[in-house]
Amino acid sequence: MKAFVMKGIGKVGFADKPIPTPGPNDAIIKATRGLICTSDAHTVHGAIGPRENLTLGHEAVGIVHQVGAEVRQFKPGDRVVAGAITPDWGDLASQAGFSSQSGAALGGWKFANIKDGTFAEFFHVNDADANLAAIPAGVSDEAAVYCCDMMSTGFKAAENGDIPIGGAVAVFALGAVGLMAVAGARLRGAGLIIGVDAVAKRQELARVYGADAIVDFSREDVVARIMQLTDGRGVDCAIEALGSEEAFQNAVKVTKPGGVISNAGYHGKGEVVGIPRLEWGVGMAEKTIRTLLCPGGRLRMERMLRILKSGRIDPTPMTTHVFKFDQLERAFEMMDKKLDGIIKPLIVFA
Ligand code: ZN
Repeated sequence: MKAFVMKGIGKVGFADKPIPTPGPNDAIIKATRGLICTSDAHTVHGAIGPRENLTLGHEAVGIVHQVGAEVRQFKPGDRVVAGAITPDWGDLASQAGFSSQSGAALGGWKFANIKDGTFAEFFHVNDADANLAAIPAGVSDEAAVYCCDMMSTGFKAAENGDIPIGGAVAVFALGAVGLMAVAGARLRGAGLIIGVDAVAKRQELARVYGADAIVDFSREDVVARIMQLTDGRGVDCAIEALGSEEAFQNAVKVTKPGGVISNAGYHGKGEVVGIPRLEWGVGMAEKTIRTLLCPGGRLRMERMLRILKSGRIDPTPMTTHVFKFDQLERAFEMMDKKLDGIIKPLIVFA
């Protein structure tokens, strides 16, 4: 089969690989639709070190091709979502409620990290009963593929924020995760949602997903503007969906005492991420910093799919570009350089 792989740091291309085979609890999925993630670009740039011939991608839906003897929930022909994070559910971290961290910190992240990812004609899913979810009739593959990572991660950022009904929320960066954090904050009952971004298309989508105000960091002082919009009180929850130290520090600054800084961003630079001392109340303002990695699991994905089925959220307007599988190299370059206002490129498999 054909797979799109990382050939070395900064190098990608196609390779021929054998179709994977399932262990007793696993499934093999024939991919139908996928999305490129900004973290795929981070990987190619060396975020997890050098990799040779590693299949990229972790956001995909498809048709069950083959299952192991112990798989009970799925059979060949089922239309399914595979979680971007595919934890080991027997691990103690999973039993403690942190399945993304099964085995080790970030250990639930296997696709395009410790095993081949989803940008191939067929891909392997461990613990299929727990890590796949059936796509209900009436929900398209194009929408369902957002359950893998973007909805799950963005919603978790809002869930981690403990947003009180009517509370104020600021979301730093309105890429796909930030946009789904806006949507999640709305679903959680926020009374004021402030989105921070400078790109017009993202600002427009943020308003669709529930942002009441937009702060353009290229034109205004973000902290001053958010404080003004909240009558000088600050927000109950600030969501960092970028992975920049400046955005993180601004998130701490605009969060009111007792509030939550919910980090969803990948902080890939430097030895230390600094906390602004005074606005942190010299460590005593009861501002909580919470972090996350996209949660996995069938139960969670079924809840995401229910949101799609009921029409509460339509993630498909985030698909700004569509490519065929054999055009992945171009799609990757566009996502890497964020060309042409790209938010999410959808990959269509044959
Ligand atoms: Zn992703």
